[in-house]
This record gives sequence, C-alpha cells and structure tokens, in this order.
Amino acid sequence: MALIEARDLTKTFPGATRRAERIAVLGGICLTVEAGEMVAIVGPSGSGKSTLLYCLSGLEAVSSGSVRLMNEELTQLRRADLARLRRDRIGFVFQSFNLIPSLSARENVALSGRLAERKIERSDVDLALAEVGLSDRARHLPGALSGGQQQRVAIARILATNPDIVFADEPTGSLDTVAGREVLNLLRKAADGTRSVVMVTHDLDAAAGADRVLVLRDGLIHRELLAPSAEEVFAAITQTRSGAQA
Ligand code: ADP
Ligand code: MG
Repeated sequence: MALIEARDLTKTFPGATRRAERIAVLGGICLTVEAGEMVAIVGPSGSGKSTLLYCLSGLEAVSSGSVRLMNEELTQLRRADLARLRRDRIGFVFQSFNLIPSLSARENVALSGRLAERKIERSDVDLALAEVGLSDRARHLPGALSGGQQQRVAIARILATNPDIVFADEPTGSLDTVAGREVLNLLRKAADGTRSVVMVTHDLDAAAGADRVLVLRDGLIHRELLAPSAEEVFAAITQTRSGAQA
C-alpha cells in the first residue's frame, strides 16, 4: 500500500521584492512511498530536499499538485484535520533534535502523548526509551546528553506515538560517525513493514542503507536508484552536479 503519493507537486516562494518573480523551488515532483519502505532523498545543497520533505509532511503548503498521505489529500484537508493527521500519524526528526531543554528525556518522550491528547501509557514511554537504548538516561535533561543520545530521545518520542510515516531531515547532520550509525539503525528499524521512513541526507552510506534513493536536482527528481551502493549514490550525485561534464 502506498502511504505517500505526490503528483506534480510544485512549490514556489515569493521573490525578495513585491515585483520580483516568484522563486520556483520544486518543479513538478511525482513520487510514491510504499508502506515499510525507507526512502532517502539526496542532492546538492539548495536543490529543494528540505522543502520537499516539508511539503510531503504538510508542514508547508504546496503551490500546486497533489499530496496524498494514507489516502488523505493534504491539499483538501481543513487546517484542524491536517494538524491532527500530522500529530497522530506523522513523526518528524530534525537535524537539531528539537527537545525541550527543561524536560528530562522521559518527559520529552511522554510529552508527545500529551500533545496528541491521547494517553500514552507509562509502559509505552519506557518501551520507546528502551528501544533506543536509553533506559538508564531517562531522568537526564537534554543538556546532559550527547548529541547522539539527544537524537535517540527524539526518535523515542516519535516511536511512542507509533506514527505511520517518519520524516527525517539530515538526522545525522550534527553527529559523529558512530552516533550517526546508531541513529540510522534506529530509523532503518522504524521502517518495519507498515511504517515508512523518508530521510534527507548528504551521507552516502546512510543513503545506501535505504531501499530507494531519489536524487534531487534543481527541484526535480533527477535519478531514482534501487538499493544502491554508496559508490552508486556518489556517482549519481556527482553526475548531477557536473551535468554533461565528467
Ligand atoms: P536543501 O534542503 O536541498 O538544501 P531547501 O529546500 O532548503 O534546499 O531550499 C531550496 C531552495 O528554496 C533554496 O534556494 C532556498 O533558498 C529556497 N527556500 C527555502 N525556503 C524558503 C522560504 N521560506 N522562502 C524563500 N525561499 C526559500
Ligand atoms: Mg535542507
């Protein structure tokens, strides 16, 4: 079953002045993400990766085209329904972790349940912390945790709400290699048969761990690679950068 279906998705932003032309960032994206799939989006800086992720997850409104999540057309949803869909069925991992500094790891994880206005059992919170290997850090504030540990708390917070789709924008961008690997393994595990993961990354090995890699160039999907090696991802990106020139 397709959890995400985008058709002719475009996104433009206003120009710097009122008279300036609008800036086209996404130029007609079509993509499908199946349940259980892990899809990586790669491409040069400024190619529209983050914008695409925000449009697919309903954080940004699209300019034209269609985005269906779990068969709901995002562009037709009322604000409150879109907010509810995002809250209850989508998880988002940011490069900067986005934890609340004054709350412990455990409270940060439990908070997602409070926001969702549905009860998340204590045991779900404990289970989520255990899944990311942080049971013994539950009482620590984010400031007392390493970057990798903070990102794992952010992932636990998502797992506790059991979303259908997890979006991640450069989830390892602030982490060293070892911590990055741990986070990637958790995201890989999160795509578990019914749940999909869509991740933007500039890490070739991370991309190579995905089922499918989409190479973005100037707001369009330039290449699609099935279970590629890191070398194949590298080749596709560098080919993108240099155009016809080798
Ligand atoms: P990437 O994540 O691939 O580095 P982004 O999606 O962040 O790229 O940005 C793609 C392009 O869209 C960039 O040129 C950026 O300046 C522009 N852009 C992104 N967000 C906005 C915005 N809110 N207003 C105007 N331009 C934006
Ligand atoms: Mg980005």
